[in-house]
Amino acid sequence: MLLPPFDRGQTFFRGNLHGHSTHSDGEFSPLGVAETYRELGYDFTCLSDHLWKNDRFCAQTVLDSTHLDSEDFITVPSAELHCHGKQYDNDGLWHIVANGLPLDFAVAGEDETGPEMVQRAVDAGAYVSIAHPEWYILTNDEAKQVSNAHAVEIYNHSCAIESSRGYGIAIADFLLNEGHRVSFTATDDSHFRTNDGGGGWVMVAADQLDAGAIIDALKAGHHYSSTGPEFHYLAWDSNCLMVECSAVDHICISGSGHVAQSQHGSNITRAIFDLNTFKSDFFRVSIIDRSGRQAWSNPYFLDDLMGKG
Ligand SMILES: [Zn+2]
Ligand SMILES: [Zn+2]
Repeated sequence: MLLPPFDRGQTFFRGNLHGHSTHSDGEFSPLGVAETYRELGYDFTCLSDHLWKNDRFCAQTVLDSTHLDSEDFITVPSAELHCHGKQYDNDGLWHIVANGLPLDFAVAGEDETGPEMVQRAVDAGAYVSIAHPEWYILTNDEAKQVSNAHAVEIYNHSCAIESSRGYGIAIADFLLNEGHRVSFTATDDSHFRTNDGGGGWVMVAADQLDAGAIIDALKAGHHYSSTGPEFHYLAWDSNCLMVECSAVDHICISGSGHVAQSQHGSNITRAIFDLNTFKSDFFRVSIIDRSGRQAWSNPYFLDDLMGKG
């Protein structure tokens, strides 16, 4: 059987979940951001401007960008939420990305904690992700505190090219090992002060291109993350996993602890893994092409799969 998100014959929509405009500290106007992503071949983008009381780099409202939407390109109301209490961040602020926020979502209060802010965004209906864990030294203890989020941002392009701290897969794996069913996102966090557009994205399988359908699909984990390669499908049969993808040199299955299997070659597009003896509750699939660009599936849980297919 085909595994989600490849199992329902839906269209894949390419989108950026994390980016900034002149509504907060980005260089481009909201229209300029939308036009840039449309020209890059995206189907949607999120203007996740900073939402916090500090007007040096933040907005105090969620941007209503719906006037930028058209039939073949949409925006999803979003924000990067901040509040006090983050250790090691230079400003002591949490950074949490919330996609699909109501436009009246309020700036965090003076006493609101990171976990409370995450829960308020989840309760408001948003798809909530832990932004750039590596960039601002998110500790494992802090990750556990905000594990009520849906996802971990495992790749942040502007953090990668401007700080050499763009990854979050270690924190995501930590939460998976702790038993939290988090999904993954790759994003740009574009401000367009540098050439930081089009480096990390999600491919979302949804019924149609509208904000509600995209957010529902993200919450269901019906997406994968990429900096280049494409998954064509993942399939499950007799406890074996089949991977078909664009041309890559490495295909890895990663589980709990250091459990892993991998296959290697020159521009391979297919691999089969026997997971009958895979000693892990979950696995995730990564593909790496010759130039080091990667795509990551969301995690799959063997409890849900064993004996099926
Ligand atoms: Zn941030
Ligand atoms: Zn940001």
